[in-house]
Amino acid sequence: MALTGVQIFKLLPKTNCKKCGFPTCLAFAMALAQGKADLSKCPDVSEESKKMLGEASAPPIRTFDLGTGDKAVKLGGETVLFRHDKKFFNPCALAVNIKDNLSDDELVKKATEVSQSEMERVGQKLRIDAISVEYASGSSAQYEKAVRLVAEKAPAAAIILNCKDAAAAEAAVKAVAVRKPLLYCATNENAEAMAGIAKTHGVPLCASAQGLEALSSLTEKLQALGVNDIVLDSGAKSVKEIVENNTQIRRAALKKGFKPLGFPIINFVFRDDSIQEASAASVAIAKYASIVVLSGIEKWKNLALFTVRQNLYTDPQVPMQVEQKIYGISEPDANSPLMITTNFSLTYFIVSGEIENSKVPSLLAVMDSEGLSVLTAWAAGKFTAAKIAQFIKDSGIEGRISHRELIIPGQVAILSGALEDKLEGWKITVGPREANAIPTFLRGRAS
Ligand code: SF4
Repeated sequence: MALTGVQIFKLLPKTNCKKCGFPTCLAFAMALAQGKADLSKCPDVSEESKKMLGEASAPPIRTFDLGTGDKAVKLGGETVLFRHDKKFFNPCALAVNIKDNLSDDELVKKATEVSQSEMERVGQKLRIDAISVEYASGSSAQYEKAVRLVAEKAPAAAIILNCKDAAAAEAAVKAVAVRKPLLYCATNENAEAMAGIAKTHGVPLCASAQGLEALSSLTEKLQALGVNDIVLDSGAKSVKEIVENNTQIRRAALKKGFKPLGFPIINFVFRDDSIQEASAASVAIAKYASIVVLSGIEKWKNLALFTVRQNLYTDPQVPMQVEQKIYGISEPDANSPLMITTNFSLTYFIVSGEIENSKVPSLLAVMDSEGLSVLTAWAAGKFTAAKIAQFIKDSGIEGRISHRELIIPGQVAILSGALEDKLEGWKITVGPREANAIPTFLRGRAS
């Protein structure tokens, strides 16, 4: 558990020498407790205190990267049980499992699917983050070859080496060590060998045991063997087990400060039925998994899981917003229609997407409504006739277009009269209520 400022103060030299840049040891202790100072700034703190403070200031769930480069996924680092308490920080990585006994063509096809899985939603690029290569062939040479091929065809994906055979795992780790693969997994039987490989090659290691007691014993053993970047597999398979085990692990780490379970969690959610698998994956994403491994990927499933993950990992206290400005869509000119909406990201991306679909070059005025959607912003007094008129005047759009017509969302048709009063010389047109009617609306005007 984190120490309070007073507890930290008791471990400091208490000389008030100011070498740390703070006027007193107590002020320094308070700053340390809030994470606003670095212990190394005090040159006189004892080694014993350093050790105690270092342990106490370590995050309750260890944080490290899965993979390398700009597509690496940060695992762990969460600080709350419930998203509304603060926010969840590091979105769960989605991985697909590929068996090494597939033909080369099939391996290439599946790795390429992962490489091409990226899609954009609400301005964020989302993708399948990792590939788990399963040792199913029983041949170390075949495994290494498959791992190399998959890594080559999916250059940005993180690699999970799903192999309990230490000799085969070591050869594969050596082949892709530069990608910092996650080694899955250490068990009670192979812990020494797997820990040796992970330590030698500097890669994270998954601890796998049935039940939390066995799992915490195993992580203690791995740490004693010098492995610190650990991922937890409690053996949970059913949705009930995933919810129960993941929740107990998160609670133990955050509420009890129980270090042996203070690590990111991996869940394998393989199901014969894709819908069942997507459902189990959604539960794992919502309930604390840091990595969810799927048996296959399909576009509909990707979109559903990306959406669940994205929604959970946004800050509940800060609506997603886009910049207030006039956006040009499909190369508009001075005669192009001008529409207006609010700066809630989802609204912007849906409306701009439908304008794009219409193929009618247009201008979209996006007004700052503190990230609220059209109706909510109107109800909150942030999307009123006076504010819209001011925004249009300040935007400079009058110098860019040859007409004076503003198309407002159908949901706020009630504003049209007041807007015509406030925007002298402008014609206010009421647009569709729903974004999906925009293409027909714009094409109808253009013809
Ligand atoms: S440097 Fe250390 S001893 Fe000096 S005031 Fe800061 S905390 Fe106290």
